[in-house]
Amino acid sequence: MAETFDVVDIIRTKRDKGTLTNPEIDWVIDAYTRGAVAEEQMSALAMAVLLNGLSGEELATWTAAMIASGERLDLSGVTRPTADKHSTGGVGDKITLPLAPLVAACGVAVPQLSGRGLGHTGGTLDKLESIPGWRAQVSNADFVRQLNDVGAVVCAAGDGLAPADKKLYALRDVTGTVESIDLIASSIMSKKIAEGSHALVLDVKVGSGAFMKDLDRARRLAETMVGLGTAHGVKTVALLTDMDTPLGRTAGHALEVAESLEVLAGGGPADVVELTLALAREMLAAAGVDADPADALSDGRAMDVWRAMISAQGGDPEAPLPVAPEKHVVTAPESGVLSRLDALSVGVATWRLGAGRARKEDTVSAGAGVVMLAKQGDTVTAGQPLFELHADDPTRFERALAALEGGFTIGGTLESRPLIIDRVD
Ligand code: URA
Repeated sequence: MAETFDVVDIIRTKRDKGTLTNPEIDWVIDAYTRGAVAEEQMSALAMAVLLNGLSGEELATWTAAMIASGERLDLSGVTRPTADKHSTGGVGDKITLPLAPLVAACGVAVPQLSGRGLGHTGGTLDKLESIPGWRAQVSNADFVRQLNDVGAVVCAAGDGLAPADKKLYALRDVTGTVESIDLIASSIMSKKIAEGSHALVLDVKVGSGAFMKDLDRARRLAETMVGLGTAHGVKTVALLTDMDTPLGRTAGHALEVAESLEVLAGGGPADVVELTLALAREMLAAAGVDADPADALSDGRAMDVWRAMISAQGGDPEAPLPVAPEKHVVTAPESGVLSRLDALSVGVATWRLGAGRARKEDTVSAGAGVVMLAKQGDTVTAGQPLFELHADDPTRFERALAALEGGFTIGGTLESRPLIIDRVD
């Protein structure tokens, strides 16, 4: 069958800073998904988009075409309003774990399709898989059933959701084209819009441990994503939040589940509680529900939903979590204020201890990670334990320690900004 357009013409148009028509964009995304546009042709187009950008209309059409490449989940059988959260990823970012049951406990259903980690940021599914028996795969029918019965589902996205993005993201990863704001925004939003939620709250991380290192780019990404969600009828809000220093006191899968349980029990680190409540308030407001999530944390309702959510996917919420057999403590070399604790250094150390993967097929260690015994801003004394490193194999400590070297400063000026930097709607 003859194709409607010539892909080389489309590549040349974008290379020469021209504007693509809606039919050209619809065709190129569809033809790439079915294999009629070759990987090298799409990689040339992705590079042209990275260098020359897409107009607002081109981006809207590009995103719609990515959504149309697969199924859009039908949540019409869900009896409560729905709201989801997406984080662009950070170190120690376990917020989904307390947040999803908390929002469900306040009457809003949370349909959350999540991913596994690649690189120094951990994936939510990897964290939940440290719970004995828990399964990431849920059928579409069970997804809707669990949303009605329990109120929250965190699971893996099926192959049918935005298949154009699956191919394009893998291609961008190996062609130096991940960093385009247009391509990131259309990638994230095509999946989130296809998921079918009424409301979406975006946690756009900014700082050393985040994808977006500087505030201006993070703000542009947030504005672009909010615009796309709104254009597709999804009530979308973004918070810009700090990721120069890790969230909470733990990085590593089972360690982060344990810390999330502390939050669900009404305790936990102040920064994790603050961000969980801020995102919960945004999700409830976007879904049109007037409730105070702080009550549901302190009275145990969120913990009850957590137990039901874990059990519904085969997990045993009472089972002990895996603990790494090997530990190594790092002590403070001098006394003073811990003025800088760098997220990227802690993320790389966690990854090297066994929590991360270099390739998609790699397995991860559930118990590996870093416990931060002091946080940025704390006063420490020489010899006081700062970090506890956990690993299955003690040979991993050396490279993790190298990652932490230079990753913290004692003395000097405290380098910190508010956790919640700004809001975009
Ligand atoms: N996450 C995604 O899903 N897509 C991107 O392009 C970047 C981060």
